[in-house]
Amino acid sequence: MPFQSLNIIEPILKSLEQEGYETPTPIQKEAIPIILRGSDLLGCAQTGTGKTAAFTIPILQLLLENKTYEKKPKIRSLIVTPTRELAIQINESIKTYGRFTGLKSTVVFGGVNQNPQTASVQQGVDILVATPGRLLDLIGQGFISLRSLEIFVLDEADCMLDMGFIHDIRRIIALLPKKRQSLFFSATMPQEIVKLANTILNNPLKVEITPSATPVEIINQMVYFVDKGNKGKLLLEILKDEKIKSALVFTRTKHGADNVVKMLDRSKIKAEAIHGNKSQNARQRALANFKEMQIRVLVATDIAARGIDIDDMEFVINYEISNISDTYVHRIGRTGRAGAKGTAISFCDAEEKPFLKDIEKLIGKKIPVNDEHPFPLMDHYPVKAEKQARNHSSQNKSKKKSSSNFTDKNKKHQTKPVLVLKPK
Ligand code: AMP
Repeated sequence: MPFQSLNIIEPILKSLEQEGYETPTPIQKEAIPIILRGSDLLGCAQTGTGKTAAFTIPILQLLLENKTYEKKPKIRSLIVTPTRELAIQINESIKTYGRFTGLKSTVVFGGVNQNPQTASVQQGVDILVATPGRLLDLIGQGFISLRSLEIFVLDEADCMLDMGFIHDIRRIIALLPKKRQSLFFSATMPQEIVKLANTILNNPLKVEITPSATPVEIINQMVYFVDKGNKGKLLLEILKDEKIKSALVFTRTKHGADNVVKMLDRSKIKAEAIHGNKSQNARQRALANFKEMQIRVLVATDIAARGIDIDDMEFVINYEISNISDTYVHRIGRTGRAGAKGTAISFCDAEEKPFLKDIEKLIGKKIPVNDEHPFPLMDHYPVKAEKQARNHSSQNKSKKKSSSNFTDKNKKHQTKPVLVLKPK
């Protein structure tokens, strides 16, 4: 099914062709017609599925079809997203897909001087991409008006909540015109998110990406059992392979990320970390250096890495396995994007075995074990591990209990594995 059959107009089709997009992804197939009809949308999908294009393409089309031809465009669409990295990437996508539309967009986010951003907004834009805090700040200072808003997008809603943005979001919603089209995206749909969606959307149509193509189908996954204290050595051993031109390494904590960078540094492997304690500039620089292959390894925590879109990202290494199974799927979704091949390696120590079990349950398969490495796990049952396993299973029990609070209506919104674009 080509993009033409979604009734996308020529100036946008031309840019998609230039990007080499041949067929819409499942979320694009479903969401684009709904948005073009003017309906509100509740989308359960995450980055890596082609979600950004699924909302930016029809927004561009709707704005172009009703273009106002004012000398100075007013903000007609607002996209709110939790992280600076995502905001920048969404604005880049708008510029790419909207290359031949003449529509203008810009991005505002915190942690940097506001002057270039306010200057850009004041020149007039049709679409504004923003993180919540800076947006409210600039509205408060009178630089941004949402009076002409027609289409509002709340992206990565679950991540917004995780990052404590709920009050900011409520304040933003209160400032929006009542008559508008609203699009709401979240990777997971716990009850709190469904509640938030209900306050924003009006008779929404739902689009949910079912796990018909789970990452297991395209990503080569492996687990290495290793003692905690040997993980650094194992990472260095793996990085001896020159075929690994670049790797994205995940840790659970900011401190852990910094330690891995220091360890790699000592072995003359160029690495940088991105996490919440780094300044906006440092994070952008690290990401740019990684994309330009100036550094070989980017070490990231989960929140900082949400939505990172790096083409041809081939290796993801889970230095520490997350205790939240969904996170595994988010992490490995950084590789194998848009049909590229990908490898996800997980280091699992004794304490992490219960987490691995949960992940295998979620993805519905056993992850193959590579036991041919020089640092096999020796300490299978440390005392701490047993304690942790017990805690984890009791946590899971209480999690199960709370998820049983879901109403039947919301049951289908429970977390599902991400769909990663399949190779053609
Ligand atoms: P997203 O889920 O928006 O982060 O997109 C993931 C990646 O898929 C991005 O690198 C997009 O450029 C790419 N992509 C999005 N839609 C398509 C498509 N229809 N065909 C090929 N690649 C796509």
